[in-house]
Amino acid sequence: HNQKIGWNFDNSYAGLPELFFKEADPTPVKSPQLVILNQSLATSMGLDVEKLQKEEGIETFSGNEVPEGALPIAQAYAGHQFGNFTMLGDGRAVLLGEHITPSGERFDIQLKGSGRTPFSRRGDGRATLGPMLREYIISESMHALGVPSNRSLAVVTTGESVLRERELPGAVLTRVSDSHLRIGTFEYAAKGGTLEDLRTLADYAINRHYPDIEGHENKYLTFFKEVIKQQAELITKWQLVGFIHGVMNTDNMTISGETIDYGPCAFMDVYHPATVFSSIDVQGRYAYQNQPGIGQWNLARFAEALLPLLHDDEEHAVELAKEELHKFEDLYYSHWLSGMRRKLGLLNEEEEDRALVEELLRIMKEHEADFTNTFRALTLGKPSDTAMYGKAAFTEWYKQWQERLERQDESESVVQQLMKKSNPSVIPRNHRVEEALEAAVDKGDYRVLERLMDVLSDPYAYSPEQEEYAELPDPTDRPYTTYCGT
Ligand code: AMP
Ligand code: MG
Ligand code: MG
Repeated sequence: HNQKIGWNFDNSYAGLPELFFKEADPTPVKSPQLVILNQSLATSMGLDVEKLQKEEGIETFSGNEVPEGALPIAQAYAGHQFGNFTMLGDGRAVLLGEHITPSGERFDIQLKGSGRTPFSRRGDGRATLGPMLREYIISESMHALGVPSNRSLAVVTTGESVLRERELPGAVLTRVSDSHLRIGTFEYAAKGGTLEDLRTLADYAINRHYPDIEGHENKYLTFFKEVIKQQAELITKWQLVGFIHGVMNTDNMTISGETIDYGPCAFMDVYHPATVFSSIDVQGRYAYQNQPGIGQWNLARFAEALLPLLHDDEEHAVELAKEELHKFEDLYYSHWLSGMRRKLGLLNEEEEDRALVEELLRIMKEHEADFTNTFRALTLGKPSDTAMYGKAAFTEWYKQWQERLERQDESESVVQQLMKKSNPSVIPRNHRVEEALEAAVDKGDYRVLERLMDVLSDPYAYSPEQEEYAELPDPTDRPYTTYCGT
């Protein structure tokens, strides 16, 4: 059935030294049912949508049958979790292998919630329906927003219940990623492998993600620089759409620069730099404003793992790494400022732009303005739609912004086009996500979720049907809280 569906598996990761993985077959489930399939993603991967919807597809998505050519494994890695180093590994995910698309692209195909692996420790290796659908919604939405992300191909229910604080319906999510190489994979190699293992891993990552640097004089230093660049760009994109990852442990930071691990993440509503949603992040380590700094901290852990490859002399290697690491701040800041200029419709640069942006953010914070809707209102030329309207500081800021716009040559329509491309009209708002999950999980009604996905599929469209999805929830005194693994 493999050929008919279009799967075309290769297993290059499994060609790495054995310490990097353990073989791990998915555990079959009782009665799988397909509840959502990403048809456009499937088509773009060269897969047959009709066949995926039938038994042959569902058997793969549930882990009941391993497609031809796949070699299921659990990946080994380590990581700094909330600052503490730990040895880890896929405890409830299995990499089926890499699907090569008709155009030659290579994607990891991973099942999440497919049963125990050698890394499961005391866990059951299972996942529940709500969180798998939530990951589906947020990851696909990130992709549509233009933020590099792993993708979600399908969710199946297993027909089995999973015991958490109560019994919940089990589910398996099929994810599609550029790869699952993480900073933590390198930490694992540095800690538990030989220098040769580390070099083999680095060569593999370079070949897979940065083939252009092959043959560079100090290619491992260049590799480090490239990963710094990708991470700086990625985190800038998070900041510009108000995305809070929530669990920026080094095992969740990819070498490719894709967002992975959608557990406690959420989009910020009211603008406040200290916003945190995760129930376990009591210190606010991964708060919105800390994401760039944590990104750099994580890259320092990456540097430590790479040191023996950077130079034979350790002190010299440290110097080289430090020099690159320091550049992260400027790199991040310049991306951020460019992005903010675009959000404000500025096509050229002026010295005072930074102050203009920072003053807006200050006023937004003071008046608890919604992050997305503030930029949406500015885009639509409706300052009266913001929470700051009528406040003296905002009136002054708005005047200065208008004067700034007049000092550039571009017409109003060009400015608005740029702003529409840079400020989403809709994001996956927490109450909308919860509403969709409730209908799906409690009532088996997927129409709410499908409509939400439809609206989120083109977040820069500014279409009439998006308007109601831009509305804020009724105020509650309960803060929105997210959880890690359920
Ligand atoms: P997660 O929040 O899903 O990223 O989980 C964090 C880590 O704990 C992962 O590396 C998993 O391997 C492990 N883990 C989480 N939930 C389970 C589970 N139900 N069974 C086994 N391992 C788990
Ligand atoms: Mg993780
Ligand atoms: Mg996770």
